[in-house]
Amino acid sequence: MILIVDDTPENIFSLRTLLELHSFPTDTASSGEEALKKVLKRSYALIILDVQMPALDGFEVAEILSGNSSTKDIPIIFLSAINIEKKYITKGYLSGGIDYVTKPIDPDILLLRVKTFYRLYEQNRILTEMQDNLKKEIEYRKLAQQEAQAASRRKDEFMSIASHELKTPLSSMKAYVQLLDRSLDKGDKIKSYVDRTLIQINKLNTLITDLLDISRIENGKLKFNETIFNFDLLIRDAAEMVGQTYPDYRIHITGRKGIQVRGDEARLEQVLLNYLTNAIKYSPDIKDVHIRTLLENNMLIVAVRDSGIGISKEDQGELFRKFYRVDGSSHRFQGLGIGLYICSEIIMRHKGSCWLQSEPGKGSTFFFSIPALMQSQLQ
Ligand code: ADP
Repeated sequence: MILIVDDTPENIFSLRTLLELHSFPTDTASSGEEALKKVLKRSYALIILDVQMPALDGFEVAEILSGNSSTKDIPIIFLSAINIEKKYITKGYLSGGIDYVTKPIDPDILLLRVKTFYRLYEQNRILTEMQDNLKKEIEYRKLAQQEAQAASRRKDEFMSIASHELKTPLSSMKAYVQLLDRSLDKGDKIKSYVDRTLIQINKLNTLITDLLDISRIENGKLKFNETIFNFDLLIRDAAEMVGQTYPDYRIHITGRKGIQVRGDEARLEQVLLNYLTNAIKYSPDIKDVHIRTLLENNMLIVAVRDSGIGISKEDQGELFRKFYRVDGSSHRFQGLGIGLYICSEIIMRHKGSCWLQSEPGKGSTFFFSIPALMQSQLQ
């Protein structure tokens, strides 16, 4: 809508006719005061403003409009019969106007200018609309993201509470079954059932501990209790523990001995136990598992090798991701796909890294490295 402001009705009439003939919607005001009232009530694409008017003249109207944030950007074409001197034209521009047309009006020139302003106004309107839509979209996405984060936090809290609640009765169950086990004679037939129950309880315990660890990692609450210790002992204990649970597997230990490290012994044992139980789980036919230690560039490298089902190249890069399980093997072997993720977190926090080499059908070697303590650091 274009607002024509002029105190001479004939001028208004001729301008209005010209513009409406070219399909521009128009509105009119016969004084500066009326124009200001109208501009405050509705929005205009352009104002054609006569300069000579009684009371408020065109320049004064333009000055008032340019001082108001909601009207300051409306383009103005000044119409004047007499103020054609340079200083008046400059005044017109300073007071917020954008163009200046002198009377008598050349209709073609005026139409050209109106068209230009109208096009600019339309482009501006479209841009503002796009900007508003973008802002809304950003707000909407922010909100959706906040909701997703809140839902994820509630899920983590639930997992953490549920794992805690499960762990308490399981611990007392384990204690009672251990008591029962000790009260039975070696040859007792029931003892073998009780032993198998204990193995299953331990598996359940590991699963719940893993779930608890996941929520600790997510909340940044995985705590480490650092000491300096000899890695040989950790390997021996882990191998012994796994050997008791899986007596038909042979665990071979080779490599560099006597390496000292600084770290959380229980957490590092958890990593090795995870590698070993995976090596056993995913190698149902060949029952030899090898642990090898190396010292390279001041890093202790531990390798656990099995001759099991192996892993394809595509899957190898994904294994340390949370909940990742290889498609083909996930039906044959039980698991949640969180063990290796926890291992990589623990090793990362010890400033080390995890990786693997594997060939489908031939077996896998899982590695982790952590800084070894040199003689000078021990003194
Ligand atoms: P889980 O064994 O509970 O599924 P992990 O995080 O320990 O979870 O292992 C993730 C996946 O990596 C396993 O599902 C399995 O597909 C693969 N994987 C891990 N260790 C081995 C291995 N020694 N041999 C073959 N596949 C393995």
